[in-house]
Amino acid sequence: TDPLFQEAIPVLGQIESHGYEAYFVGGCVRDILLNKKINDIDIASSARPEEVEAMFPITFDVGKEHGTIVVVVDKAPYEITTFRTEGDYTDYRRPDEVNFVRNLREDTLRRDFTINAMAFDRQGELYDYHGGLKDLNDHLIRCVGNAQERFLEDALRMMRAIRFASQLGFEIEQESFNAIQALKANLQHISIERIRIEFSKFLLGHSFTEKAQLLVNTGLAEYLPGFTQELAGTVMSELSKDFKDTPNALRDERLVWARMLKHMGIIQPETIRSFLKEWTHSNAFIKDVIQMIQLFDYFKEEHVTSWEVYNYDFSNIQRVEDFLFETQRIDHKFVEDIYNALPIKSKKDIAVNGKDVMTILDLKKGGPEIGAWLDKIERLIIEMELENTYSMIEAYIKNSGSID
Ligand code: ATP
Ligand code: MG
Repeated sequence: TDPLFQEAIPVLGQIESHGYEAYFVGGCVRDILLNKKINDIDIASSARPEEVEAMFPITFDVGKEHGTIVVVVDKAPYEITTFRTEGDYTDYRRPDEVNFVRNLREDTLRRDFTINAMAFDRQGELYDYHGGLKDLNDHLIRCVGNAQERFLEDALRMMRAIRFASQLGFEIEQESFNAIQALKANLQHISIERIRIEFSKFLLGHSFTEKAQLLVNTGLAEYLPGFTQELAGTVMSELSKDFKDTPNALRDERLVWARMLKHMGIIQPETIRSFLKEWTHSNAFIKDVIQMIQLFDYFKEEHVTSWEVYNYDFSNIQRVEDFLFETQRIDHKFVEDIYNALPIKSKKDIAVNGKDVMTILDLKKGGPEIGAWLDKIERLIIEMELENTYSMIEAYIKNSGSID
């Protein structure tokens, strides 16, 4: 089995040696049974958070009141969560209280889907109280217990259902599906950030093409910022086409969002920014998406200046060009060629620095003109009008006399 898993076995051993139970739970159990690469290892235990803290030298409190402690063993982090049940949900997203319990079975009752509610012990014995293995074999996403109740408790689970469908290529079991249609409006109570995390995983799922319309069929689309059912229908189908052609290149979160925005007709920097802000994306993410959307157009026109190429992040050029190449919209990666041919990749590569400029001009102290000179030189070098050597730059500065 997975080496990540092997390495984690002593962690369970450590907890057991203190007289508590410990199991692998959730996604890692599911992924092992599916022979997939596991993401992270979650451990459930009868030990209380303080008890866990006492057993391991390196621990982090990441949500002690909910029972979760991260322990670090041999540089690897493990999330250990005390068996718990959840109290009433009155706000459609968080339990009013959690109660720690001492057995695994009770803990599995709070989990979202049967395929996510299985556990392994240290010996590799499977604990499956809700028919998770059967659903895994039947490719079904089914709520643990009553679907309506489970989605009423936590509306985010509806987004999780479609995200697992897209990641695993599974069907949503009928009763669970009906419950989503009935309760979709409760998604309004969930923070956009948590929705975004599930939505991105949905967009990047390996079976996205087959599952894209779930967003519309469930009716969830209506409750996503900036979407309507109708818009989602066309955008998801356009995006699926992109995916059909690009099994590899599109598996990048920024690129997927960039393609999606393009299909939505959101292509002006200011509208991109406000849309992505609403979705709580970071400024760095927004910057990259804006660049990528601009780059889509350069490729179409097949002309782009070296100055423009210089000002894009190379990683964005690569992401866009890999995608366009894989979808055969371009037959060779000419922007990458332009990039590789650039005489300098950043200001740091200029053969003179600010101090050199002062020496050349015989200045005693710096001022804004130093920066202006460097900007000018940078541009000339990129446009191949000035060779990037000390002597050529020195001659250029001396001949020009002054910067205006
Ligand atoms: P991934 O591979 O994306 O990490 P995962 O199944 O591990 O998938 P997580 O979000 O890491 O998903 O959650 C870990 C486990 O916690 C889930 O498998 C599930 O048992 C439980 N869980 C997570 N979120 C919820 C929720 N909103 N409601 C009920 N159970 C949940
Ligand atoms: Mg996980």
